[in-house]
Formats: sequence, structure tokens, C-alpha cells
Amino acid sequence: MRVKCVICDEIGKLDDEDPLAKKLRNRPIHTYMCESCRNRIGELTHIRKETGKFTFHRSSHPAEDEF
Ligand SMILES: [Zn+2]
Repeated sequence: MRVKCVICDEIGKLDDEDPLAKKLRNRPIHTYMCESCRNRIGELTHIRKETGKFTFHRSSHPAEDEF
């Protein structure tokens, strides 16, 4: 099946037997990303996870003040 990268619109091809192809067919919510974009997003997610910790701690303060 032909798949289009959601990030850079690059057209890729997945084997019909590829588990990812099956996933995309059954659940359209799964989006395809080419390998370079996936690596880039992977790095971003990693960074966001680390900064997310700080956001979590900061956002918990106003809630504590209400009590
Ligand atoms: Zn891409």
C-alpha cells in the first residue's frame, strides 16, 4: 500500500504484510511517518518528556494553593 508521511508529504510504500500497513488499514488514526521524520519526532518527544516534568511540577502548584 502507498502511504504518505504526515510531516513532509513524502510518499512511501509499505508491504501489505507489514504490521504497520495492517495497523494503518485497521485504524486510520495511526499515521505514517517516513524514517527521517520519525527519528526527528523521536528526538522531540524525548526532549518534551524531559521538559514535561517541569511543566507538571509547576502546574501542580496552583492546585495545591486552592486547598
Ligand atoms: Zn517525512
